[in-house]
Amino acid sequence: MTDTQSTDTIDAFELVIEAMKINGLDTIYTLPGIPITDLTRKAQAAGIKVYSFRHEQHAGNAAAAHGFITGKPGVCLTVSAPGFLNGLTSLANATTNCFPMILISGSSEREIVDLQQGDYEEMDQLAIAKPLCKGAYRVLHAEDIGVGFARAIRTAVSGRPGGVYLDLPAKLFTQSLPADSGKKSLIKVVDAAPKQIPAPEAVQRAVELLKNAKKPLVILGKGAAYARADQEIKAFIEKSGIPYLPMSMAKGLLPDTHAQSASAARSYVLAEADVVMLVGARLNWLLSHGKGKTWGAGSSKETGKQQFIQVDISPIEADSNLAVAAPVVGDIGSCITALNNAMGSGWGKPPADWTGAIAERKDKNLTKMAETLAKNPSPMNFHSALSVIRNTIKDNPKAYLVNEGANALDFTRSIVDMYEPRRRLDVGTWGIMGIGMGFAVAAAVTGEQVIAVEGDSAFGFSGMEVETICRYNLPVCVVVMNNNGIYKGTDVNPLGDAMAPTQFVKNARYDLMMEAFGGVGVTAKTPEELKKALDEAVASRKPTLINAMIDENAGTESGRITSLNPTLAKKKA
Ligand code: ADP
Ligand code: MG
Repeated sequence: MTDTQSTDTIDAFELVIEAMKINGLDTIYTLPGIPITDLTRKAQAAGIKVYSFRHEQHAGNAAAAHGFITGKPGVCLTVSAPGFLNGLTSLANATTNCFPMILISGSSEREIVDLQQGDYEEMDQLAIAKPLCKGAYRVLHAEDIGVGFARAIRTAVSGRPGGVYLDLPAKLFTQSLPADSGKKSLIKVVDAAPKQIPAPEAVQRAVELLKNAKKPLVILGKGAAYARADQEIKAFIEKSGIPYLPMSMAKGLLPDTHAQSASAARSYVLAEADVVMLVGARLNWLLSHGKGKTWGAGSSKETGKQQFIQVDISPIEADSNLAVAAPVVGDIGSCITALNNAMGSGWGKPPADWTGAIAERKDKNLTKMAETLAKNPSPMNFHSALSVIRNTIKDNPKAYLVNEGANALDFTRSIVDMYEPRRRLDVGTWGIMGIGMGFAVAAAVTGEQVIAVEGDSAFGFSGMEVETICRYNLPVCVVVMNNNGIYKGTDVNPLGDAMAPTQFVKNARYDLMMEAFGGVGVTAKTPEELKKALDEAVASRKPTLINAMIDENAGTESGRITSLNPTLAKKKA
């Protein structure tokens, strides 16, 4: 080959990079190694932002959060076999949460894998990924890279979003194509997440139900937040006058301080509502499957049962747990726009005895909460610590709040108000631990401040990524709610020969982990110390870890989901 000929070819690395670039995939979350090391270097040299992690699961979680935050698939790139498996957990989690993400893994030689002849990191990755994500594709030939990416992108973002696995065998990277035909083989995806317009009769059916409701309620889920139909949803809520509950990641879609938010009267409205409209929220375990004493106590006496409207892009979501009287299938923007139009002008507000009863309970509970937050016990507890964070978010409404743990999750969700859409990133549908630092990195690369409120146990799953945060000098302030253990730090081993399974080293200095990599570490024993450290972190935007020492007696087993804990549930029964 002469020099001129060699410049006229395009290799598989370049094709992958170009396929990403023409489709606006501008960021890769990765952990380099065989066979993708050079891909990470070349992608960076070509202008793609490359964030390199210490464990693939956190790179994958970052890609998932990137998908939720931007509406474009987040890309995670891993090595074969073990790296792939580490990334797979986050791909499955992204799929469960309906976040668009593409996991790209290098893989070993097909011929050897298929005959199980023992290749380096041999594993049939495509087969393993398939049941755990929305779609899985393999590209064997350089000329198919364009199609592979187009399929991955469409699968990830169209309809119900989810995770996609893209398998790129090591051998692919040794291939090249003539530059001309190579470039032509790439596909710029047009309208990757097409609008899906709901049927007019479905919209009408829903409007009739709402019109006749005496005690209507709207539940906004993270699908509603993801849909980026913020204005339409606000218009619908305010025009209809219907009280609403945000699921945790829908907090801030409307400010939590909105007059129609029924969060502070949650158990009352769930039990009493007669018509419930779900918008991008599933009736899964987080909503007690729509059953049991959480639901229907009040209305069942009057109307027999509660009736449901479900606005969702998935046509098979309705009736998954109980009968849905009015499914409205389409993208949330189109559905809510259609509902707003069908409601016409002069829509009557819900009966005043319903909204009045909610307001009464809300006021009572908010007053009680304010009293609790004003207390300053020693040692500090979840409430007094979170009161500080609540004020910080109020003053910095654009900041991202990452949140995981058991009690650290439950208390933060109910205490810390959100004011902007898609700013709260948490454990999601699985209630998973370990998303913390991955989500924090993806949120921080947007340039906004991130505050990650972490249980000391939850933090442990991704703690090593504080090095990643320091390396990229990201504006992340981690607050570790340190109560010396899982749930709390007071368990004892009856035999006394070792620590109890839920105990950690007492008074651990998590702050020193951040200092080890050049960030700022602070121990805070009082709300005043916590406030000072938080203010400094937000002002300086330096990577910071605040080790917030919480009363080790504070917290309950499994937080608010004790009933899911077999032995304890039995004791209680
Ligand atoms: P939450 O946990 O907040 O209740 P879920 O994850 O259970 O939320 O539900 C999200 C729902 O939103 C899913 O059923 C999904 O199909 C739906 N969804 C996601 N994006 C859209 C969209 N753009 N339009 C309509 N529905 C959507
Ligand atoms: Mg703890």
